[in-house]
Amino acid sequence: MNKLAQLIWKDVTGENESNRVSYIVRINAMLMCLYFIILMVVFSVYGKFPTVGTCALCLATYGLAVYLTYKDHNALALAIYSTVSIFWMMRFVIQWGWECSIQHFVFVLLLLVFVGTYASDKIKIILSIAVFCVRLVLYSWHVNFEPFEVLPYSISLLFQIINILSIFFSMVVILTIFTRDKMATEAKLSEYNKKLKRISEIDPLTKLPNRRSVISGTISNIMRGVCENGVCIAIGDIDFFKNVNDTYGHEAGDEVLKQLAVLCQEFMKDHGIAARWGGEEFLFVFNNENLDEAGVAANALLSKIRNLTVKWNDIEIKVTMTIGVADVNTFLSGSVTEADIDDRINEAVGAADKKLYMGKSDGRNKVVV
Ligand code: GH3
Ligand code: MG
Ligand code: MG
Repeated sequence: MNKLAQLIWKDVTGENESNRVSYIVRINAMLMCLYFIILMVVFSVYGKFPTVGTCALCLATYGLAVYLTYKDHNALALAIYSTVSIFWMMRFVIQWGWECSIQHFVFVLLLLVFVGTYASDKIKIILSIAVFCVRLVLYSWHVNFEPFEVLPYSISLLFQIINILSIFFSMVVILTIFTRDKMATEAKLSEYNKKLKRISEIDPLTKLPNRRSVISGTISNIMRGVCENGVCIAIGDIDFFKNVNDTYGHEAGDEVLKQLAVLCQEFMKDHGIAARWGGEEFLFVFNNENLDEAGVAANALLSKIRNLTVKWNDIEIKVTMTIGVADVNTFLSGSVTEADIDDRINEAVGAADKKLYMGKSDGRNKVVV
C-alpha cells in the first residue's frame, strides 16, 4: 500500500512543472489502466476477444501516459490520454450505442481541460468546445445509426455500473487533488503573509516593536477610544552609548540594547508599550495616562535603568538614559481622523525629542516633562 502511494505521489523531476498537474494526469491514467484491466476480464469471461484486444491497446496507451508523467512530459501525457479516450469512446458508442454510459467520460475530459493544464483561458475554451464537439458527434451517431452489436442485458448492466463508477471516481479524484493543492497553497500563503507581517513589525535585535508598528498600534488604540485619559509619548536615548561601543565593542553594545529592551518592555506592560525608535533610542507610549502620570512613570523607568547592570562576558556595564515626555492629548476635543492623529503623534514625537535634547544639554540621566 505504501509502495503504491509512493508511486502515485512521486514528484516530477522538472522544476517548472507543478506536481498537481502531473498527479491529476497520472492518477487518471492509472484509473483508466485499472478500468481497462477490469473490462478485459469482463469481456474475456463473455468470450469477446476482439474487444479484449482493443482494451489491451488502450491499457498500453494509458500506461504510456502514466510513464510520461514521471518523465515530466505532462502535456504530452494529457494529449495521449485525451486522444485515446476519444478514440475508444467513439469506438464503443458506435459498437454498443448509448446505453452503456460511455459517452459520459467526456465530462472527465472537460474537467481535465480546466484543472490538468496551465493553458490560457482562450486555449481552455477552445479545448472545451472540442470536447463538446466530441459529445455532439457521439450523440448524432447514436440518433442516426443503430449500434453494430446489442450487448446481452447482463454485460450491458455490468458495463454501465463500471462506467458510472469510473467516471464518478475520476471526477472525485481530480477535484480532490485540485482543491487539496489550492488549499495547501492558500494556507502556505497566509502563513507566509503572517510571518512577513511579524518580521515587518519587530526590531530584529531587541525584539521590540519597531517605529511603524507602534505608531499604527497607537493610532488604532486612540481611534477605538480606549485612551480616555489621553496618551503620552516619551523618547529615551542612552547616554554616551558610543563610549560603550568604543570601550567594550559593538557586541557588548548590542547586549546592552537587548537587556534594556527586556527591562523597558517589562516595565511598560502596566503603562503601554515600549518600542525601538532606532539606534540607541527607545519610544514609550503611555496609553490612558496624562502628562503628570507619564512623567512619574518615566522617572520610575529611569530609576530601574540606573539600577540595571548588564553582564557581558566578565564585564559589568551600567548605563543611564535621558528621556523627553510629551502628550498627545490636544486632539481629544472634537472628531478626528486617522490622519489627524498621525499628525498629532508626529508633533508629540517632535516635542518629546526637543525635551530629550534639553535633558542632554542639561547634564543627561534625567526625565524632562
Ligand atoms: P549621547 O549621550 O549624546 O546620546 O551620546 P551617545 O554616545 O549615546 O550618542 P551618539 O549619537 O554619539 O552615539 C550613538 C551610538 O549608538 C553610535 C552608534 O554606533 C551606537 N549604536 C546605534 N545603534 C546601535 C546598535 O544597534 N548596536 C550598537 N552596538 N550600537 C549602536
Ligand atoms: Mg541618539
Ligand atoms: Mg545616546
